[in-house]
Amino acid sequence: MLKIIQLLVLSDNYIYLIHDDASGETAVVDPAVAEPILGYLAEQGWQLKYILNTHHHLDHVEGNSVIKQKTACKVVAGQTDSQRIPDFDIGVTDGDEFFLGQYKIRVLATPGHTLGHVVYFFEQDELLFCGDTLFVMGCGRLFEGSPEQMLASLTTLKALPSTTKVYCAHEYTQANGRFAISVEPDNLALREKLQRVAVLRSNNEPTVPSTIQEEIATNPFLRTDSFSIQKSLGLVGANAVSVFTELRKRKDVF
Ligand code: ZN
Ligand code: FE
Repeated sequence: MLKIIQLLVLSDNYIYLIHDDASGETAVVDPAVAEPILGYLAEQGWQLKYILNTHHHLDHVEGNSVIKQKTACKVVAGQTDSQRIPDFDIGVTDGDEFFLGQYKIRVLATPGHTLGHVVYFFEQDELLFCGDTLFVMGCGRLFEGSPEQMLASLTTLKALPSTTKVYCAHEYTQANGRFAISVEPDNLALREKLQRVAVLRSNNEPTVPSTIQEEIATNPFLRTDSFSIQKSLGLVGANAVSVFTELRKRKDVF
């Protein structure tokens, strides 16, 4: 089993270190900053093999250059982002597979938040590092992609094994939850989830990871077929893209 270290930085960004004891290999996902990562690696005596970037936004890549200088790791990111990822080394596209030790990493392209956004799925351990595509009870804003693209990306993630752990890049859960319950007040799974989240946050504990199963039950952006959501939006019987578009629009100004 891989070891996952979760570091909260810049108030609400999560950086993940992924370590395989057997091979000694380590990867870091979306290093917004370098210092705590370098510190942790030194403390553990771990060698960094990869930086895995999900997309080019500064709060996901700003640690790349310093970390690469100090560790000689390779920077992996979506091929189409080769020009806008600092210290870009290895371009990946949808369906690509590579390894950390014996652990297979599958790349899924998830355009929407940005056009070059990719996520990393560790098959054996069912771990999904999804950047700003899927959040707990939410999804990323559409800075570059269309609603159709984002909905397709989320549908791809929805199809992963239900027990997959969802490691997103931000602790946005409580704000997302407030929006979710506003559009689906009668969702019992959502109510329960909000209670658990409130307890975690009051103890200053992370609400991440979630699971695909929990997201399917509670995340409005994965629930465009919910009658209750459609009713709140005045879109009963509308197609998934229309419901998703309206949800995203409302969340942007919530
Ligand atoms: Zn972003
Ligand atoms: Fe971000």
